[in-house]
Amino acid sequence: MPTSQSPFFFENFEQMQSVLYGDSEGYYYARDGSPELTALETALVQLDGFDRVLVFNSGMSAIASTLFSVLNSGDHVLVQREIYGPARLIFEEYLPAFGIRADFVDVSNAEQLEAHILPFTEAIYLEVLSSFTLCVPDVKTIRQLADAYGLLVIADISASFGYAKWHPYLDFAMTSLSKYLAGDTGLLGGAVFCSQDRVQHLEMTRSTLGTTLMPDDALALANQLPGLAERHQQISHSGLGFAQGLRNLNAVIDVMYPRLDDKTAVGGLVSAIFDFSGGQLVEFINNLRRFRLGVSWGGSIPIVTPMTAAYRPEVLSSWGIDHRLVRFYTGIADAAELLDDVEQALTKTNSLH
Ligand SMILES: *Cc1c(COP(=O)(O)O)cnc(C)c1O
Repeated sequence: MPTSQSPFFFENFEQMQSVLYGDSEGYYYARDGSPELTALETALVQLDGFDRVLVFNSGMSAIASTLFSVLNSGDHVLVQREIYGPARLIFEEYLPAFGIRADFVDVSNAEQLEAHILPFTEAIYLEVLSSFTLCVPDVKTIRQLADAYGLLVIADISASFGYAKWHPYLDFAMTSLSKYLAGDTGLLGGAVFCSQDRVQHLEMTRSTLGTTLMPDDALALANQLPGLAERHQQISHSGLGFAQGLRNLNAVIDVMYPRLDDKTAVGGLVSAIFDFSGGQLVEFINNLRRFRLGVSWGGSIPIVTPMTAAYRPEVLSSWGIDHRLVRFYTGIADAAELLDDVEQALTKTNSLH
């Protein structure tokens, strides 16, 4: 049974009116806020240099609420081509109905990005780092460009959450809390970091749309915070080791891992392109034993996500993503064991041809 409340009660008329009019601080209904939510936000805000953080009931609701809060009819947004599918859908399917247009661009090329800026461009939307290609856009240069044109920089930081501080470069940093923070709990959550002067409208949007996290889930996620740094370290250790090992395999054409060259460990997501043809990719995936097959990541277990099992090849190529891309998530598993598994799956696959 939940122990927390949804309505909160008052001592008298004056107190109630003062809180509901917004003249004094207080809780009145969990969709608007709760002590558990405030406690999680107070703890989370320490993780980055932003003034404020608001917690939502999923990463997607954090992203959607932010976009609905800051964009207006007539606005134009420049969006990184290779972003999380559901986030892309907001720009493709929902915002156009409100007169908000998006262009999907290759953000690794600053000149190309600048060439796409229109008089009514309002924001640049990024993913740092991209959860598919694991590339990190040059946020410093993009910030300078945005300042020159008076644009907002909004980014999904889910895949680098807890590993890097982005506050000097971003106006809004959204993250899923369902991944690294939730770990193995199975909880969903999201958060948006921003400055004090931007928080009020976003808070009203959250309360109105009802994208607030429930008090019990806030409490459970807050309980995950103390172990986060240590889990991050274990996961990164596996991730970097696995990425380094993959590089040595003949069947691998390309390995994608942030900062692989300077051997800095950043999380457990590792993407790779294999020299497969015909049905080899399918056979290889089906031959893996140590990885669960599916989407998502962030807990202790290894997961493999073949991109073509999630998106059609023509969709991937329009995003500039090779259809053979396979995303691995190592969890906290031993990198050598995972590499052995990849090798045995490759051996079996090759022997079939
Ligand atoms: C999972 C994910 C999201 C969405 O988060 P949910 O909590 O599942 O709604 C957004 N962006 C990225 C990069 C993700 O991996």
